[in-house]
Amino acid sequence: MTLFAERTATIGTENAFKIGPHIAGLESRGHRVVKLNLGEPDFSAPQWIKDEVVRQIRADNSHYCDPQGILPFRQAIARQVSVSRGLEVSAERVCVFPGGKPSIGFAQQIYCNAGDEVIYPSPGFPIYESFIRYVEAVPVPLHLREENDFSFTADELAALITPRTKLIILNFPSNPTGGVATPEELRDMAAVVLKKCGPEVRIYSDEIYENIVFDGRKHCSIASIPGMEARTIVSSGLSKSFAWTGGRIGYAVLPTAEEAAAFKNMNINYFSCIPPYNQEGGREALENPLSGPWMAAMTHTFQRRRDVILERLNAIDGVTCRKPGGAFYLFPNITGLCERLGALAAFERLPADIRRLTSPSTLFQMFALYHHHLAVMDRRSFGAIGAENLHFLRLSIAADRATLEEGVRRIELAGRDREGFERFLAAGENLF
Ligand code: PMP
Repeated sequence: MTLFAERTATIGTENAFKIGPHIAGLESRGHRVVKLNLGEPDFSAPQWIKDEVVRQIRADNSHYCDPQGILPFRQAIARQVSVSRGLEVSAERVCVFPGGKPSIGFAQQIYCNAGDEVIYPSPGFPIYESFIRYVEAVPVPLHLREENDFSFTADELAALITPRTKLIILNFPSNPTGGVATPEELRDMAAVVLKKCGPEVRIYSDEIYENIVFDGRKHCSIASIPGMEARTIVSSGLSKSFAWTGGRIGYAVLPTAEEAAAFKNMNINYFSCIPPYNQEGGREALENPLSGPWMAAMTHTFQRRRDVILERLNAIDGVTCRKPGGAFYLFPNITGLCERLGALAAFERLPADIRRLTSPSTLFQMFALYHHHLAVMDRRSFGAIGAENLHFLRLSIAADRATLEEGVRRIELAGRDREGFERFLAAGENLF
């Protein structure tokens, strides 16, 4: 008998959290680490959310509550999603979760049988791929190509759909690329789904970055396209829009009340309910008229940083970076830099059991962390299947300008530091 069940080895993780102890170790030894690894806005949540949460706690609103989410908050969500997507959503189709994350795994547990196929974007938020084998489904990565500005065409999607397809995950604006699909692209994707998939196939549309879109764009949801509301789970939350990652408030709008009840039952089984005082804070966030201008100002700051950092990144020899249309990440291609540094050749020389756990961009990530005290994420952290020859980094621009500029400077320095890289390899530690 073994200690762990077999399925325990099939679940992945989110490396942005896993790298934390490495950073803490360096910091405890007195190093100042430039942290561009975490996906959380460097703003404080708006005062009106904090005031409401405090008011609710003082009023003793700290008992069990409706496992689906308190009604006033679900009503506020239904209104917000209806107005922003041109839909008519009722509160009974809404389910609240502790963050945007839980509904990803719940959707896979609720909809997928063993052998069903899950199409998901790669690079993409790691939790999409992480759960698929855990529920004994089959991962089908939809590779987002740089030359498509990290969107994809309807033909690319059509080629992956089979009679076993059960769930198709979309994420615009995207983590980690910042890619945003145009309304025309969404229309074409919807046409493929309506043509090739039965009515029981679900689109999980992760729209958690809906309020962070640049250059005058307006967020578009595939659920708004005629025929798609009945097949789409619209997922969002307050972590990114309101810089409130610790509030753990996310939600989904399900196609039917019956499906919302299935998600509610997951909540009952896992955590009973979500803190009611935070849900009241969430309601306040959606209802307060100051919230719109607040989010617009934060987005404007991200856009300004994007422009400055993009130019500097593209000036580095061996680095090319597309201009993201939303979210707060840059996803530079570092193939040239890896080649110049010798990371491609060094990777090939590693023993097979280590090669399986790392990649050239992982080697660069760990070298940059340990030798240049810069924390960024590698390509493998956003879906490893089929990513073997892809060399990218994710930089979060959720940091002040000086920190970002220092981060880019360290990428440049690390990229030229062949001697340091040789020492890093020779030490043979922290290679993944
Ligand atoms: N989806 C995407 C695409 C994300 O980037 C994140 C957070 N990084 C989440 C979901 C989860 O958000 P939360 O912290 O609200 O669980």
